[in-house]
Amino acid sequence: MLKKTIALVAHDSKKLELLEWATFNKHLLSQYNLYATGTTGALLEQNVGIEVHKLQSGPLGGDQQIGAKISEQEIDFLIFFWDPLITQPHDTDVKALLRISVVWNIPVACNRASADYMITSPLLSNEYQPQLPDYKAHASRAI
Ligand code: PGA
Repeated sequence: MLKKTIALVAHDSKKLELLEWATFNKHLLSQYNLYATGTTGALLEQNVGIEVHKLQSGPLGGDQQIGAKISEQEIDFLIFFWDPLITQPHDTDVKALLRISVVWNIPVACNRASADYMITSPLLSNEYQPQLPDYKAHASRAI
């Protein structure tokens, strides 16, 4: 079975919460390929001791890099602890990342409770593949 790939992103005010969650779930997380935006990834490596492929920092393009990987079906699910109380300088990227996750039917956990459900899902340890939407009609539309 192919090792699943998880992407992790946390806004600054949510980084501590993500680190606590990742520390609690270190054993489970270490069984997957992990990608993260730059600062989130560095903190995970330093504080939790798990290996992470670090992309650019979110505001510098990291959210978009994760979005691109989702559209190329390289990410199985996304843990995205975004802050609902603060406007981010890269709000457009945040919205785009959430949108592209829905476009490609990727499970997304935006808070700790959802992340708990997802990381303990029995679907993680089998061949489950989310159904890919059929965008043929969209791609071949007449303009
Ligand atoms: P960061 O990016 O991990 O580099 O801080 C997170 C974000 O998208 O704000």
